[in-house]
Parts: sequence; C-alpha cells; structure tokens
Amino acid sequence: MSKNQDEELIRCSFCGRDAHEVTSIVAGPDVYICDRCITDAADIVKDDLEAAGKARKRPRRRTTRRKRLMPREIKAALDEYVIGQERAKKTLAVAVYNHYKRVESKEYFHDYDGVELEKSNILLSGPSGTGKTLLARTLARILDVPFSISDATALTEAGYVGEDVETILSHLISAADFDVQQAERGIIFIDEIDKVARKADNASITRDVSGEGVQQALLKVLEGTVAGVPPKGGRKHPEQSLINIDTRNILFICGGAFEGLSEIVAHRLSVNTIGFVTGQRQRFDKNDAQILQYLEPDDLLRYGLIPELIGRLSVMTSLESLDDEAMMLILTEPKNAIVRQYQKLFAMDGIDLFFDEPALRSVVRKAREMGTGARGLRSVLEQAMLDIMFEIHSLKDVGVCRVTSDTILHGTKPIYEKRRASA
Ligand code: ADP
Repeated sequence: MSKNQDEELIRCSFCGRDAHEVTSIVAGPDVYICDRCITDAADIVKDDLEAAGKARKRPRRRTTRRKRLMPREIKAALDEYVIGQERAKKTLAVAVYNHYKRVESKEYFHDYDGVELEKSNILLSGPSGTGKTLLARTLARILDVPFSISDATALTEAGYVGEDVETILSHLISAADFDVQQAERGIIFIDEIDKVARKADNASITRDVSGEGVQQALLKVLEGTVAGVPPKGGRKHPEQSLINIDTRNILFICGGAFEGLSEIVAHRLSVNTIGFVTGQRQRFDKNDAQILQYLEPDDLLRYGLIPELIGRLSVMTSLESLDDEAMMLILTEPKNAIVRQYQKLFAMDGIDLFFDEPALRSVVRKAREMGTGARGLRSVLEQAMLDIMFEIHSLKDVGVCRVTSDTILHGTKPIYEKRRASA
C-alpha cells in the first residue's frame, strides 16, 4: 500500500473526518482523534466542571497585582482590632509580608535567580482568650483573603475515627465560596495544636490519642502539596469527585495554649544560664509573663511536637496573658469592641447606652474569675444585658440607659433617663 493510500484510511474515530479534512490527528491503540474533536471534548469537560462549581481554575497570571501592605501598615491595621500583644503583632506583620512576597516571587518572577524563598508557617502560643484566633482572623480580613478555622483535636490519622486532615482544606474552600484559586492564597488557623502533642500512653484503639499520627498527616499539607479534597468535607470515598487544591501558598497559623510549656522554657534557661558575675545559675520563673519569648524549637520537641512539624512552623511567637488594663481596653477600644456593639444596638432604638467605669471594672473582675481570658468579657456582658434588653422596650420614653457596677455584679436595674423632648 502506498503512503498516500495509507493516510486516506486514517479517520477520526469520533467525527469520521479523514486526515485531509483536519489539521492533525492523534493516534491511540486502534483509535484516532482529530484536533477539532479534541477541542470540542475539552470544552465539554470544562463546561461540566464549571457547571458543577468545581472547575479547578488554572493558576492564571493576575493582570493587576494586589497592593502589598508593608509590615508597618499590617501592624497598624492589627492595632485597630487587637489590644496589646505588640511583639506578636510585629512578628506576624513581618511574617505575613514575607509570605505574600514569596507567593508573588513565584507568580510574577518565577524565582528566576534560583533563590527559592521557603515557606514559613506560624506558631502562636499563649493562654486561652488572649487573641490568637482574633489575630489570625484580623490578618485575613486586612489582606482580604479567605480564612478558616479548624480544630486539631477533631482530626485523626487516616484509618481512625474522626476527620481527615484534608477537611481543613475543605473548610477553606467553602470559606472562599468554592473559588479554589482564591482559597490557594488563604489563611488557615489550626487551633489547639498543643492537644496533638505526643503523649506517652495511648490507651484507645479507635482514636489516635497519641496525636503523633495527626502531626505526621499535617506535615505534607503544611509544607505544600496538591491535595484532593471532598467538596463537602468528611472522609474520602471511592466514587466521590475531588477538588484539587495546591497548599503551597496557603498560610497556616497554628495556635495553642501550650500549658506547661513555660515550665519547660524556664527549666532550660535555668539549667543553661550561669550568671556572668556571680558564676551562679540564674533562676527563671515559669510564671513570668515574658518567659515564652525565649521559646526555642527544642522546647516544643520536649513538649511533644515532632521535629518535622516544628521545622515547618518556622515563625514562632507567643501572646501574653492580659492584665486588667488590657481587659478594660478590650471592652471599649477595638473597632468592633463589645461595648461599642451594644451601644450601636441601643442607638438603633434611639437609646444612648453608657457604662460607668466601675461597671466596666466589675465586668473585668467577673470575667477574670471565669479564667477564659478576654473571652469571658462577652459572656459577662451578655448575661447582664439580657434583662435590660428584654425590658427596655416596655418602658416608655427611655432615651438614656446607664449601666452601673451593681447592674453587673447583682443584676440591679440600670439608671434609665427619659428621652428629651425634641425642640
Ligand atoms: P484565643 O487566644 O483563645 O484564640 P480569641 O482570639 O478567640 O482567643 O479571643 C476571644 C475573644 O476575646 C475575641 O473574640 C476578642 O473579642 C477578645 N480578645 C481576646 N484577646 C484580645 C485582644 N488582645 N484584643 C482585643 N480583643 C481580644
């Protein structure tokens, strides 16, 4: 058979066109497909995926680059919402600035000089209710990127009862309204990371109590991988379609109270530090609010985090417990302070709401007794305001409501003043 005859016999198995009618034909074992059918098929697949809301959009080059905020600007924006925690705010501002610079260096400059900027996720340690979650959430708001929170204690290693590590990615994808490209630049806050620290005894067979498996499973996701995640979260199962998400540019912030960690740091410092002048060992106090600023990777290792995970959390910073003054400020100062929120609610009904200083001090004192940091402030106020909000509408012509210390401590009625007749 001549070469020409041979060519005439080749036809697209899909549309029947022969080699002369099309630009190119791709051959497979006993099948052929022409360039037109390839284009049509690709369009059909793309439309189907988009219709299902699951199209994995290719990382396209943005035509307009976002304005990158400088560390000073990030810190200033954090200041509007978070009281105190100066060192943590500064560390975060720089870390986040570097993180997004790194993302851009890949997107726009393609690391042309061969210097690859390594990813650094963040570890936030500090007592409960001191602003760890608030910091992470506020960062995401400032940077206008998707944000999700997951709890490390809900996760288990594959094969155990509990959630796969990939579910933390599903949370982010839903936070980004299923825009995977946006999610890939987001921030994930993993809370209670200290609770998956390795413990010596492991008594359960259904749950990976030791936590080490979870730490191992987190490694890949934190470092950067393309993970297939079920759109609605939960465990993967065979017939399910998966969304692929690249975690290389996702910033992970892990938080935890790390009870007992100050003791480890204080002990290490006391053992290692010998006073210059005296030649005596210096004593470090585990109750010193500043002690965690001397935190080193070794201390976390001793606490029970595995070295690989510590390596992937290269930026570490700690939050201090909040003193009374800080708690007072938290009540009134931040942009969305709780007192401001109540004032706005009341103002919508034409009522001016005031708290005198002793009232605010009592809120702080009561919150302190709860031992949940600033989180207690909201519960105390909510309790006190419930009765007021319930009855205020049945009172006639109230224009001013003054909450006193007695209202907070003993549930006494606040001082109501009549609305002034408008001139
Ligand atoms: P955690 O450190 O346990 O993650 P959160 O960040 O969830 O604590 O804090 C609980 C609540 O307490 C926040 O929503 C916020 O209202 C308040 N809060 C805690 N710390 C601060 C802070 N430093 N500045 C302002 N508000 C704070």
